[in-house]
Amino acid sequence: LKRAKQSGLEEIHQPGEAACARYRLDLETELRRAIAQEALSLAFQPLIHLGRDQLVGFEALARWRHAERGPIDPSEFIPVAEETGLIVPLGRWAMNQAVATLAAWDKAVGKSLPLSVSVNVSAIQLARDDVPALVASALAAHDVAGERLTIELTESAIVQDPERATAAFRALKALDVRIAMDDFGTGYSSLSSLRRLPIDILKIDRSFVTGMLGDRDKVAIVRAVLSLADALGKKTTAEGVETAELSHMLAALGCTQGQGYLYAPPLPEAEALAYLKARL
Ligand code: C2E
Ligand code: MG
Ligand code: MG
Ligand code: MG
Repeated sequence: LKRAKQSGLEEIHQPGEAACARYRLDLETELRRAIAQEALSLAFQPLIHLGRDQLVGFEALARWRHAERGPIDPSEFIPVAEETGLIVPLGRWAMNQAVATLAAWDKAVGKSLPLSVSVNVSAIQLARDDVPALVASALAAHDVAGERLTIELTESAIVQDPERATAAFRALKALDVRIAMDDFGTGYSSLSSLRRLPIDILKIDRSFVTGMLGDRDKVAIVRAVLSLADALGKKTTAEGVETAELSHMLAALGCTQGQGYLYAPPLPEAEALAYLKARL
């Protein structure tokens, strides 16, 4: 920056930074409006039991189609939502919408489907909101059993405030809800927290899975996570399963579930319903 000032580059730098700050501010204002007007939607990505080759659930993923800018990636708007606190209303909406959708699918097929829905909960949402109360009210409002809901949390949820996280995990377990550690292996949680906390599923991050065939280091990491999970009595889900070869290898290694473009990308609600009907 010093050198930039000396060479007179600051006139070039400042407008760029200002434009960037303005873009984020616009995004914040527009995201606030989108949440209030329910202009967001959820996409649903199938979760497949690898051994049985069977559909067992869907992960709900937030989607935002901006009127002028078109679709905006979650990797862009989720961080803005976290920085501004908008993740709380966004997360509440997603929880209610995901549970409501599962109940609507039950109605559409005329029975309680043997499927679960997974909802992502940000560490910041867990820290700022009463997530167990939110979950309890969403389940009650739609008469859905807790065992059909999985909450996906990242390792940062534990690191920031271990005591609060522990209390929240216990309260969620009391509702029969499953807890999955998302993006496992990319964060900073200690292995002892895995033993201490009631975590049911480890989701192996896509970065270890994609391109695993032909990469001995990735195979070693995936094997280690699977054996750790097995020893601790936890299930596993591999993210980023893009080929049949990968799914066979993961099944052979004992991974419980897979999710990825091999089966389907995240689908709009109506397409997810068609997908599940075809697999009943
Ligand atoms: P995540 O929870 O790890 O979700 C998995 C991401 O991997 C999704 O990206 C999904 O589209 C992508 N994916 C799945 N299978 C494949 C594959 O085979 N290949 C590749 N290349 N990608 C695959 P997406 O939908 O863009 O979401 C990104 C992240 O944004 C999510 O990562 C999650 O951390 C966050 N997110 C999305 N919706 C919500 C939400 O409602 N609440 C919160 N707190 N976070 C959310
Ligand atoms: Mg997830
Ligand atoms: Mg993940
Ligand atoms: Mg991820």
